[in-house]
Amino acid sequence: MSYYTAMPVVAIIGGGFSGAAVALHLVENGRAGKPARVVVFEPRDILGAGLAYDTHEPAHRINVPAARMSLYPDDPGSFQRWIDDTHVLADDPEAIMTAEQAFPRRQAFGTYVHDTLAPYIADGRIEHRQATVVGLARSGATWRLSGSDGRDLVADIVVLAVSHPAPALPSQLKPLAGHPRLVADPTARDALDVIRADDRVLIVGNGLTSADVVAALTQRGHQGPILSVSRRGLRSRGHSAIAHEPVGDFLSPPSRTASQLLRCIRIELRAARRLGLGWQPVLDAVRAQGQQIWKALPVVERQRIARHIRPFWDAHRFRVAPQVEAVLDGAIEAGRLEILAASLSFSARTGDEIGIGLKLRRRNVFREVTVDAVVVTTGPSHGGILRSQPFLSALQNEGLLAACATGLGIACDDQSRALDASGNIVPALYIAGPLARGTFGELMGLPQVTEHAVFVAGQVGDALERSASTGRVKAGTAG
Ligand SMILES: Cc1cc2nc3c(=O)[nH]c(=O)nc-3n(C[C@H](O)[C@H](O)[C@H](O)COP(=O)(O)OP(=O)(O)OC[C@H]3O[C@@H](n4cnc5c(N)ncnc54)[C@H](O)[C@@H]3O)c2cc1C
Repeated sequence: MSYYTAMPVVAIIGGGFSGAAVALHLVENGRAGKPARVVVFEPRDILGAGLAYDTHEPAHRINVPAARMSLYPDDPGSFQRWIDDTHVLADDPEAIMTAEQAFPRRQAFGTYVHDTLAPYIADGRIEHRQATVVGLARSGATWRLSGSDGRDLVADIVVLAVSHPAPALPSQLKPLAGHPRLVADPTARDALDVIRADDRVLIVGNGLTSADVVAALTQRGHQGPILSVSRRGLRSRGHSAIAHEPVGDFLSPPSRTASQLLRCIRIELRAARRLGLGWQPVLDAVRAQGQQIWKALPVVERQRIARHIRPFWDAHRFRVAPQVEAVLDGAIEAGRLEILAASLSFSARTGDEIGIGLKLRRRNVFREVTVDAVVVTTGPSHGGILRSQPFLSALQNEGLLAACATGLGIACDDQSRALDASGNIVPALYIAGPLARGTFGELMGLPQVTEHAVFVAGQVGDALERSASTGRVKAGTAG
């Protein structure tokens, strides 16, 4: 077999925030022994927006203040400076809550990421291939990617950054399939257009996407009643009025069990209360130390957290922007929005009307409601990621990819290298973004996703350096 020192190829599958950030840090950190060709496969028009920030809905706002959303962990002010330079908030005065806190529309953040990558796309150091990867196969020491545009690419290293699969339709709602006002994926563009101003709406799920839906419907002038249900009836919380530094040390020493961790959090919450602080700075400390906390826990305790504590964690960790919180509070006060702890027991259609059976959590009684529209906001089905796309299923069937033990994503090691069905490292295949959180713990909020992208870029850079020092890069990287 012949070898020559051609430019190595790094293919990144998925150009949402994670894929874009890995590409950026790969070309900027200069750790590669020699330049690499960086090709990002992403069917969307721009790199960097992905599911979260590719939205033109004005009611969709970032839920972390702009000053903490950055492509650079060591430069948290990068997005804020871009905002100041571009005057992007000139037509969005509602974005600014206080002098220090702005919560711009999510689309603005996607544009910031894309603008930051633009010079590298222009000079060819990052290639945006606007196609979906439909096949990925091991080919000797390299990978062969097949794109939906009919073109193949042979790559030396592949980074998988496909993060959020479409939500799964709860089985109780299957009888509604085909109903014009069943919104199974509210993140799809203009998905809420089918809902009329006076429609009675059932929202399934009470997290951030549910809050987004209420805010977007309100913005469109919707006036009908909205019932939002989830098993525990926990709604996403807001930020504290005054920003405060994180409070609490959960690492000296780290907890070894889920219940020990909960006890430590409760102790810190009581201490914070005595100091007149809210719960937010304590949960911020848990979030900031989340990856070390997670690493110290045995797998069985991680599973316990994923199964039992996650809904509470999600409701406190994911916070709604103050503007969205105000809309929710207003809707509840006006009696337009009801939040209920209940599970679905059945659904049925009579003509255009939808009947829904609910089992209420507290009293264990049933309630039947009639609505005109149902919106599913149970969130991306991360547990089903390997069944969400044929090329991922094929890799799983070959034993090259495996679900992680916590059911939160794809199995990988602590260098973010994919692990096969037997737990062995799959050469030159990395997992970037939230799908790696079974190994890394808290990896959903932007600050942690950014840090992880920098880490993955460093790992890929090191691998390129190693391959450069051997002077042997596999031939056949054209594509
Ligand atoms: C609705 C929503 C709002 C959020 N808001 C905030 C926020 O305000 N603040 C915060 O801190 N965090 C927020 N988050 C969390 C966090 O910022 C995101 O999870 C993060 O952006 C993850 O980005 P990603 O690139 O890993 O995933 P994704 O955004 O899912 O990007 C994956 C990309 O891969 C592409 N893709 C998929 N399959 C293929 C394929 N076969 N070939 C090629 N491309 C493919 C998709 O088109 C997509 O663009 C939000 C998350 C969501 C879901």
